Amino acid sequence: MVAQRLDGKACAAKVEEELLGRIAKCREMMTQPHLAVVIVGDDPASHVYVGSKVRACERLGIRSTHIELPVTATEDEVRKTIESLNNQEDLHGILVQSPLPNHMDEEGLTDLIDPSKDVDGFHPQNLGRLVQGRMDGMLPCTPSGVMRMLSWAGIETEGKTAVVLGRSRIVGMPQSLLLGAKGVDSTVTVAHSRTKDAQSLCANADIIIAAVGRPEMVTADWVKEGAVVVDVGINRVEDDSRERGWRLAGDVHPDVGQKAAWLSPVPGGVGPMTIAMLMENTVRAAELSISF
Ligand code: NDP
Repeated sequence: MVAQRLDGKACAAKVEEELLGRIAKCREMMTQPHLAVVIVGDDPASHVYVGSKVRACERLGIRSTHIELPVTATEDEVRKTIESLNNQEDLHGILVQSPLPNHMDEEGLTDLIDPSKDVDGFHPQNLGRLVQGRMDGMLPCTPSGVMRMLSWAGIETEGKTAVVLGRSRIVGMPQSLLLGAKGVDSTVTVAHSRTKDAQSLCANADIIIAAVGRPEMVTADWVKEGAVVVDVGINRVEDDSRERGWRLAGDVHPDVGQKAAWLSPVPGGVGPMTIAMLMENTVRAAELSISF
């Protein structure tokens, strides 16, 4: 079997197209959706991600404010920046790019974001709603992007067995909640670094979501014939054959494409969906700020 491509780029383009009308409606109501992206330090990958987010805003007509603080910034400076953005009335979304420098309490700082502007969906109030099975909060962008991509491709989830590899606050944990939610109705197993035999769990799964951060860990012998495999991982691996000396690799080995029914590529899979869902959350936050 050769897997069909779970094309996040195409799905993200559709999400963006649908947002254009909603953004136009907001503007008719004298509101331009507005996202602030705060980046602290000079991590090159983070600057690439922030650049992609700012470009997506430009494409859609969402206003963006890009705030860069040096790696030497204090936690107090970041706190004051967030508080000032919380109080800015014409601003609807605030994103603090992860990772923050080691000397900062990342969770403590993102907890300061006004939950109605928490377009990353990491605030306890938004994650708490998700735990309660409520979908009316801001949903975290990467796992909600995975769900949108599955639904767009017409992939059935009801009654399926799913394994989520990874239990992070950003991806694995909310991903498992979304897959097991009422209406989605998969039966979910979460694997992590202490799981004894993740390979056997995966080998019986209808759906595998790999969010581990270990290049090409999931090989063809982990995967059942005809499974759906979503690769969230983004890893830089050395590659002397490339001029830049490295390439991007997912958490899933390309050989899985010979066994799975569906496989999301890296790049071009979950990455574009994460950005599309960030745009959608920002537009939603703007809509909620208007009394239609
Ligand atoms: P974290 O490092 O926060 O979490 C990794 C998770 O994987 C942890 O729960 C860890 O377990 C688990 N893990 C580690 N080793 C194993 C193993 N051998 N078997 C099973 N589970 C294991 O990473 P993130 O969740 O933030 O990101 C995961 C990957 O997704 C990364 O490659 C990241 O770059 C990528 N990513 C991609 C995005 C996109 O838009 N495409 C967005 C966000 C992330 P434990 O809890 O026990 O430590």
